[in-house]
Amino acid sequence: MQFNEFNLTPQLTVNIAACGYQTPSPIQEQAIPVALTGRDLLGLAQTGTGKTAAFLLPLLHHLLAGQRGNKPRALIIAPTRELAEQIHADIGKLGKNTGLRSVSVYGGVGKFGQVRAFRSGVDIVVACPGRLLDHLREKAVSLAGITHLVLDEADHMFDMGFLPTIRQILRQLPKERQTMLFSATMPQELRRLAEEVLCEPTTVQVANSVPTATIAHVLFPVEQPHKAAALKAIMQANKMTAALIFTRTKHKARHLATQLSKAGYSATSLQGNLSQSQRQTAMNGFREGRFKIMVATDIAARGIDVSSISHVINYDVPDSVEAYIHRTGRTGRAAKNGTAFTLAGQEDKPMISRIEKTLGKPMRRENVAIDQSVADSLPAAPAPQRQRPRQPRMGAARR
Ligand code: AMP
Repeated sequence: MQFNEFNLTPQLTVNIAACGYQTPSPIQEQAIPVALTGRDLLGLAQTGTGKTAAFLLPLLHHLLAGQRGNKPRALIIAPTRELAEQIHADIGKLGKNTGLRSVSVYGGVGKFGQVRAFRSGVDIVVACPGRLLDHLREKAVSLAGITHLVLDEADHMFDMGFLPTIRQILRQLPKERQTMLFSATMPQELRRLAEEVLCEPTTVQVANSVPTATIAHVLFPVEQPHKAAALKAIMQANKMTAALIFTRTKHKARHLATQLSKAGYSATSLQGNLSQSQRQTAMNGFREGRFKIMVATDIAARGIDVSSISHVINYDVPDSVEAYIHRTGRTGRAAKNGTAFTLAGQEDKPMISRIEKTLGKPMRRENVAIDQSVADSLPAAPAPQRQRPRQPRMGAARR
């Protein structure tokens, strides 16, 4: 299928080509024709599938066909500032030379710039729930003219406790509108929200809960006290252009990034405690290649859109299969090959077998030789009390 078969406004087709997209991704192939008819849509797709353009293209097409005014006509709600910024940036590219104006709205930065944008008139508001509700309470913006609503990464919004805020926002929207809800997973609570907000939706789904086929999944059996040394050995043995490393806690993310920097790697970290400008510096540095390594927690990493991530490394095994899929979905985006490395100890066995069940095959086992002098120069983060240091299980096949 080709993009021109959608009969989008010509400028959009020009912009698609300028973005370098040659053919629609599977979610785009399924979602765009439905959304163009104006029907509500439930999109089950993880990040990296091209879901942003899947909702933006029909949205922009509708707005261009509609009547322009000064009130926002489209609202896109996203869980994190990074994702909101990313969507806003994608609107800039896909909506280039159309005259459509968008603003991104989130907390941690001053309100004034956002209020000024509302006053000067915008067509699209891309917002995180909390700050948008603040603006609504202060009557800085009216949502009475909204004809299109998108809820992006709805499962993350649910995880982050945003559902009550979203329900408050929804009360201020006209009932007559098109709504699209995108989510990688559909827990029960979210299904209820979907039933409330969507009117006779069409469901489109791609590779539900199955990571992108372009990712190689590799497992290194290594126990917690040896992980820092193992990580360094893995990094030395593999050419990594941009690596995203996941840890379980913010403290560990910061600690590991500092250790790696001291060991001579260009590493930074993204964790919840950073100010907005620190987050931006870390994100930009990683996107522009000044930092080759980003260490992050699951929450902090949401919304990272660096399409050239070569490796995702699970320094700590995630606590759910969904989290594994989200993490590894950061690499291998849009037909690029990516590699996911997981450092797993004995205690991670049950989670690894659940992940492998979803993958439909075992991860490839690889061994890592740990050099004790490296281990000494790169001390591991303090191990939890209950864990006794074990000998490295190098070469041991699991299961
Ligand atoms: P998303 O799932 O929306 O985060 O998109 C993942 C990445 O794929 C982004 O870097 C997009 O710019 C890129 N992308 C989206 N659609 C296409 C397409 N049809 N062809 C190639 N790349 C795409």
